[in-house]
Amino acid sequence: MSQATQDSVREDGIIASVSGPVVTARDLDARMNDVVYVGDEGLMGEVIEIEGDLTTIQVYEETSGVGPGEPVENTGEPLTVDLGPGMLDAIYDGVQRPLDVLESKMGSPYLDRGVDAPGIDLEKKWEFEPTVSEGDEVAPGDVVGTVPETVTIEHKVMVPPDFEGGEVAAAEAGEFSVTEAVVELDNGEEVTMHQEWPVRKARPSKEKKTPREPLVSGQRILDGLFPIAKGGTAAIPGPFGSGKTVTQHQLAKWADADIVVYVGCGERGNEMTEVIEDFPELDDPKTGNPLMARTSLIANTSNMPVAARESCIYTGITIAEYYRDMGYDVALMADSTSRWAEAMREISSRLEEMPGEEGYPAYLAARLSEFYERAGYFTTVNGNEGSVSVIGAVSPPGGDFSEPVTQNTLRIVKTFWALDADLAERRHFPAINWNESYSLYQDQLDPWFVENVEDDWPEERQWAVDVLDEENELQEIVQLVGKDALPEDQQLTLEVARYLREAYLQQNAFHPTDTYCEPEKTYGILTAIHTFNDEAFKALEAGVPVEEIQAIEAVPRLNRIGVQEDWEAYIEDLKEEITEQLRELY
Ligand code: ADP
Repeated sequence: MSQATQDSVREDGIIASVSGPVVTARDLDARMNDVVYVGDEGLMGEVIEIEGDLTTIQVYEETSGVGPGEPVENTGEPLTVDLGPGMLDAIYDGVQRPLDVLESKMGSPYLDRGVDAPGIDLEKKWEFEPTVSEGDEVAPGDVVGTVPETVTIEHKVMVPPDFEGGEVAAAEAGEFSVTEAVVELDNGEEVTMHQEWPVRKARPSKEKKTPREPLVSGQRILDGLFPIAKGGTAAIPGPFGSGKTVTQHQLAKWADADIVVYVGCGERGNEMTEVIEDFPELDDPKTGNPLMARTSLIANTSNMPVAARESCIYTGITIAEYYRDMGYDVALMADSTSRWAEAMREISSRLEEMPGEEGYPAYLAARLSEFYERAGYFTTVNGNEGSVSVIGAVSPPGGDFSEPVTQNTLRIVKTFWALDADLAERRHFPAINWNESYSLYQDQLDPWFVENVEDDWPEERQWAVDVLDEENELQEIVQLVGKDALPEDQQLTLEVARYLREAYLQQNAFHPTDTYCEPEKTYGILTAIHTFNDEAFKALEAGVPVEEIQAIEAVPRLNRIGVQEDWEAYIEDLKEEITEQLRELY
């Protein structure tokens, strides 16, 4: 909660009724989305409906014991976040209260009510280095200096979007707190390292562009078959235990984003505790520094109040946009958007709104698209380029993708990674179903892969997709009549497809080498399987029985490329041996 908001408390009202997280107040002079303090304890809430002299408020804290007649104070400000150095390496709740500060204020890890804390430390001194000098012209969004925020990330201090801008009158290096002026303009405006921004409003940018670079994840099935763009949107729906969390963690660790914002939205308490405990332990494989040095974590367990869950997504995306404005590529993971939607549903039902599908409010689709629309590849206000990629996990009850949250998400996102309980049960990981998943970014990203990896990247991928499609069709026949009833060439196709699944699509997140696969290696594995395919079909045509082809000693070694560090030499060698051993058969 922002400092300015706390300072500007104004009008009074009286609580008329309380229904869980929803409170109505009488005689409150308020506007939509104003932040208010409710009851004697001053619980934080937000105005969500105004009707006559009755104002409806969603309260971000537990409301038990709060009753009619208690006061309500309006701050007259919307829900804002504090932006500035210190957001990385921080763990927040849904309204940007730092969990460690709250804990020390209350002396226990159980959040008490009515406790407030600014989103960034207002006293801490930061080492500011100006990048402008006296006489320079600066406009809103321009970078005026830098701060080493963490060992990994340099924080850029920008002229706030609502400033007029002008000539720099003073700019000095030194140690400052975020509230002290670091750059003064000739019109009297003072730039500090602190900005505030209302969470429900996207930060301005100059232009949203078509994304043309992949967010390389180092996960073969993603980069190879279903890539997401930097600035793109993706959804990972899947039933419990199918690998949503592992996939999100892999992306947080390996995706080539500068900054990660991880929104843990209302998953079961113990799972979120795991994230809170896990993340600070993780190393950033790229720099060797802690992963938290480039991560901001927002944690809302399902035992925290429902309204705070509703807001956590907005808090997260606003922080992401702020780093985007500095010119960084930011990846935001939301786990899980289903819990967010459920929070919306609960509040909507308390408001007695007309329910839509399965009780979700009619505006579910609009809210989802508002959120995903804040992703993108942007020219920022200051003319730099920056991106926010959004990856949302969806947890459909019972794994049923026809439910409203999955369906509405599907209409918006351009990448869909469908996790599959059957694959997970068979220990095929990542359990991403290649028949149901898709990426609409493929065409616009192909030129990047052609230029940066190999000329025939698109053709090789298409070959793999065709083989997997054919396998899918053949499997239906196999189930009816058995594999041996198939003609030999089709049996061989099944064998090639098996290696595509085992050597290419499967990847062990927990193996030190296999956990990350660079696009060159992803391509390399594909060409090794392709070589086997071509040589095997030549042998078949020359009259070699399919059993003999399958039995050559070299071919199972395809499955071990993933774990090879020296994969280039290994692949070269393996291709030669497969070719030799097959040619010896005829
Ligand atoms: P969810 O979040 O969907 O409930 P998890 O992400 O916790 O599921 O995954 C469940 C289990 O599946 C993990 O504990 C792990 O054993 C296994 N798993 C998932 N993805 C992978 C992977 N890429 N590599 C290896 N194991 C995986």
